[in-house]
Amino acid sequence: MSALEIAAALLLLAAGPIAGSAAHAFALRYPDELGDWLFGRSRCPRCRKVLAARDLVPIASFLVLRGRCRYCAAPIDREALGAELFALLIAGSAIAVLPVGRASIVALVGWTLLAAALVDRRRLLLPDPITLPLLLAGVAAAFFGVAPATPLLSLSGAALGFAFMVLVARLYRFVRGREGLGLGDAKLVAAAGAWCGPLALPRVLFIGALCALLAALLSGAWRRPRDPLPFGPWLALAFFSVLLVETAALEAAQP
Ligand SMILES: [Zn+2]
Repeated sequence: MSALEIAAALLLLAAGPIAGSAAHAFALRYPDELGDWLFGRSRCPRCRKVLAARDLVPIASFLVLRGRCRYCAAPIDREALGAELFALLIAGSAIAVLPVGRASIVALVGWTLLAAALVDRRRLLLPDPITLPLLLAGVAAAFFGVAPATPLLSLSGAALGFAFMVLVARLYRFVRGREGLGLGDAKLVAAAGAWCGPLALPRVLFIGALCALLAALLSGAWRRPRDPLPFGPWLALAFFSVLLVETAALEAAQP
């Protein structure tokens, strides 16, 4: 690694918590206050005081303030700290297995998926303003040769992923008589197909379903079968892991 590459890797790591903080704020403000998300000042949700830059340093501010607002001592949402740490982990895992250029692309996808997962946790829906651009970015990345899929595999992966999920959703509705999977899940699987190609889709679906099942078992949610559970966060996690592994395999195969 050259000095320049080390500097770029450190920059990507430092960007992680900032991206996590932005992903959390996006989920908090989606869909009605997205203008605030882009242009507004951050405020304490309880005392409405505008927060200063020193209160907004990801991870560090939470630790210095011991998880409380500087002005009114209201507890700061722990999900913010979780999102910042998770986004750092995304950047770290990408840097660990990939050269910094490819790692940046994979980390960007990971941070975008984190925002989608956080919205799904709150609202039980995956936002179109995230899934659709992610899908298009996957096709574009395939055309520019920076995604694991070739352009043809990317297009067929997106189409197959979407069609398969719509079919499963219809079957579920037919058998159970209610909605189980949303179109947002279908668009996210289509995006995974666009980035990784159709051959990776069985792995994405298997890992996603397995994690969702384990989470339902561990949290005791299986005892309340009428409660809807978000599938998006687990699909997003599976999408990111498969993309990371596929990109690393592509990198290893190149001379
Ligand atoms: Zn406050």
